[in-house]
Amino acid sequence: MREILSVHKIGYRLLGMIHGVDSTIMPMHLLEVCLSVVQVYAGLYLTAGLIDLLLAGAYGQAAEWALYLLLVNLLLGTATVLLKRKFRGMETRIWQLFYVWMREKAFSLDYETMERPEISEKILFSERRSNMHGGLGMLLYYYCDILRALLHILLSAAMVLYVCMARPSQEAGFWGTLARPLPSMILFGGALAGMAVGSWKVYSRFGARIQEIFESHTGVENKISYLQMQVLGDAKVGKIIRLYGMQEMIFKNAMENLKSSVAFFGKMCDVERGQENANNVVSSLFAAGSYLLVALKAVTGAVTVGAFTQYAGAMNQFGSGCFKIIACHGGLREICTYMGPFLEFLDTDNLHAKGSIPVEKRTDGEYELAFEHVDFQYPGCQELVLKDVNCRLRIRGKLAVVGKNGAGKTTFINLLCRLYEPTAGRITLNGVDIRKYDEEEYRSLFGVVFQDFKLFAFPVWQNVTAGGTREDDRIRAALRQADAAEFVEKLPQGLDTYLYQELEEGVTVSGGEAQKLALARALYKDAPVVILDEPTAALDPKAEAEVYERFHKMVEGRTSIYISHRMSSCRFCDEIIVFDKGQIVERGSHETLYAAGGSYARMWDAQARYYA
Ligand code: ADP
Repeated sequence: MREILSVHKIGYRLLGMIHGVDSTIMPMHLLEVCLSVVQVYAGLYLTAGLIDLLLAGAYGQAAEWALYLLLVNLLLGTATVLLKRKFRGMETRIWQLFYVWMREKAFSLDYETMERPEISEKILFSERRSNMHGGLGMLLYYYCDILRALLHILLSAAMVLYVCMARPSQEAGFWGTLARPLPSMILFGGALAGMAVGSWKVYSRFGARIQEIFESHTGVENKISYLQMQVLGDAKVGKIIRLYGMQEMIFKNAMENLKSSVAFFGKMCDVERGQENANNVVSSLFAAGSYLLVALKAVTGAVTVGAFTQYAGAMNQFGSGCFKIIACHGGLREICTYMGPFLEFLDTDNLHAKGSIPVEKRTDGEYELAFEHVDFQYPGCQELVLKDVNCRLRIRGKLAVVGKNGAGKTTFINLLCRLYEPTAGRITLNGVDIRKYDEEEYRSLFGVVFQDFKLFAFPVWQNVTAGGTREDDRIRAALRQADAAEFVEKLPQGLDTYLYQELEEGVTVSGGEAQKLALARALYKDAPVVILDEPTAALDPKAEAEVYERFHKMVEGRTSIYISHRMSSCRFCDEIIVFDKGQIVERGSHETLYAAGGSYARMWDAQARYYA
């Protein structure tokens, strides 16, 4: 019982959400259900009357009833067809709602929360299953069918009651006694109880099995998703696959998973077929019992011959209504196994409270950022990645952050950009803890080019403006500053040329060109703080030197931070901090650090040898 309630709690909430988006969907579906039910019972009633009139030889009146029957079917049938035609557009919309809600929520969550493995599991699980099993569209379909079945049960129950209560013309004798109201009720009640017990047994036996098969299959679905989207669906991965001859390994892996998937669908089909057969047996027994009862009533003169079709039809509707509810509940249970996690995802709160104070708008760029005793540990990891980091970013200063791989440089930037929050200590902007600021306003202070920068399969201008308004002059200026103007000019549609091939016939850009576009994007933002995390990794030494020179001019009047393996970049900076195992171990200018002969000097000398 608790399980039934929890399924419908999820269903009810989702229906409410659909209604909240479009208040016409529910009423129109309700109307369709009501019309279809009325059509059935009007048909039953009119057919019964028609048969009785024909048997009584009242042919004129019978023709009139036949006309009513035709009109009712025509009118209600047309209305239902028209409504269903409207549903076609709605179905796509309802199907899309799931993805809209999913994305809206994902964008509203902070990066740290989204990175939690259980969150991506919930997204992947419900998205994949929704694709496989119909999601919200099927939910609405099942609820409509449940409502239809309930209406059938209600109306047919009234008719069944009426037929049971009808007194036979001859109450004597065995059949006459059986056809009396009380024995009829007992007979019908017996058939009903038999059906209830039978169908409950079928539901429990097969439902649990279906659930079990479903659960055991999730892992395989996730693997197939990964292979489809991130391995086989990514052209760049194809390069590695060919170079390393991984085709056979990946093909084998995919085939194994697909084999499991085929086995899963086979098993599901077998169980579902078994469930259908078992249901058919139970419903046939119930139908046979009902027909016998109505036949008894007709033979003993309790109802007319015409009414026989009407009542037998009603009994049939009663039985199939009960089965429909059980079957739809099974379908809903299946849907709720993945819609439950989806709703949990929608209910996920951000790990940290969001601040609300606005960031002071300053034209002089006087934004002072500082780390105060900052410790940081990635979610789910044991070790501190940053330990007691203290540092003040000089306003309009140029800061270089150096250190070995894994020393914590990118993490330092991640925290500064508020992608994560310190585990201990605080980061301040003009003396105020950055957690207190409105997140969007705070982030608007930074133009960042991450090491793993991403461009999108959108036109060049959209990649540069990144959602901002299109101002061609400014875009061209940013491209010039990032040394990307020349190659963009040569593109077939200039700024309107699409990148990559995913959305449109676009161009493929080289690693260096892509990096320049990412730099132009950071510059277009015109933020007071510019951060470049390994900005020149994909550039040759000459281009790198040029970029640095240009950069230093570009960031004039702004605060800039460089993370680079290329020590030569440090020379241009006012201050250098050296990270080692999550701690700042040295800080100062190039001259002072080099003269100190510590790890900075060693790194410098090691690289100077290669440049010599
Ligand atoms: P650097 O930029 O100096 O190469 P990072 O800041 O990227 O170093 O990484 C510092 C440490 O944090 C490394 O040990 C790395 O494995 C770990 N790390 C980085 N990102 C994550 C993450 N998202 N989850 C868990 N650990 C991470």
